[in-house]
Amino acid sequence: MRPRILIIYTGGTIGMIEDPATHALRPFDFSHLMENVPKVKMLNYDIDNIQFTTPIDSSDMNTAYWQEIARSIADNYYDYDGFVVLHGTDTMAYTASALSFMLDNLQKPVIITGSQLPIGEVRTDGEENLITALQIAAATDADGSPMVQEVAILFEDYLWRGNRATKRSADNFNAFKSGNYPHLAKVGLSINFFRDALMRHQSAGGLNPQYNLDPAVAVIDLYPGLSESVLRHVLQTPDIKGIVLRTYGAGNAPTASWFIDMIKDTVDRGIVILNVTQCAYGGVHPNRYVAGDVLAATGVIPGYDITFEAAVTKMMFLFGLGLDSKQVKFYLERPLAGEMTIS
Ligand code: ASP
Repeated sequence: MRPRILIIYTGGTIGMIEDPATHALRPFDFSHLMENVPKVKMLNYDIDNIQFTTPIDSSDMNTAYWQEIARSIADNYYDYDGFVVLHGTDTMAYTASALSFMLDNLQKPVIITGSQLPIGEVRTDGEENLITALQIAAATDADGSPMVQEVAILFEDYLWRGNRATKRSADNFNAFKSGNYPHLAKVGLSINFFRDALMRHQSAGGLNPQYNLDPAVAVIDLYPGLSESVLRHVLQTPDIKGIVLRTYGAGNAPTASWFIDMIKDTVDRGIVILNVTQCAYGGVHPNRYVAGDVLAATGVIPGYDITFEAAVTKMMFLFGLGLDSKQVKFYLERPLAGEMTIS
């Protein structure tokens, strides 16, 4: 049986061309992309494709587009062995995180990739990324089950769990990294999968897609000098339900009473605040320092080693399920799709 793969093309540098007037890159058609990778035929797979009506620079990504991608996968789930999503790198980690929550009980590969140089350029990384992504989407274990059963990002030499990855470089071909979770595969002469790191589901039943996302989430990034009035403005943003608070180191924040009182007040108003670290490696340990302890006492939830991208999208997902703040807090403290490790 030839592997059956569905490519979902959303846009991104991989398919872009240069605007002759400005020399800036802009998204272009899927057919142009495929014309530049004739080698795909050598794989001998059955490949179909779906593309966004208008391919986008991923800076324009939003929750409606995530719903569109999730639906494209869910509607075709039983007709294909695997899915490759072509996407810009800028928001790839957000999309990967969102899909990891939306595609509940996923047991097939959803491999997201793109490139740093357009596919039409001589030194493009797009051709190799696309071909490797297709091979990973088609890879099976000895028993014939899909090797990858989760949302993952393939970029240059590594396959990462999607909700653990972050874009780390605007220039390097190895643009993505995960600070707190090992790579799922290393790409060299062959593709070496690390079985211990790969997601395996225990639960029976099929895909259980959830499409509703609630973007009523705000972000506060701490920095020395953050003023009372700036903080107050964000905390009092109308209609928000959750806040991702990006703190220092192991989850530390100012201990000044104006700061702590405002945070506590917000928690008491029923707004969920999730504490994530600004560090790329390690996570929140609320009781390591007094500065973290005082913050934890306000009712702020520790995000452990979750990435910022996964934190924001997980909150949107949980509020999208229609859960109340108590239930949202409950699930924020538990991994749903391998996005964090509780220390
Ligand atoms: N701005 C582009 C995008 O995210 C960058 C890329 O694809 O590498 O769509």
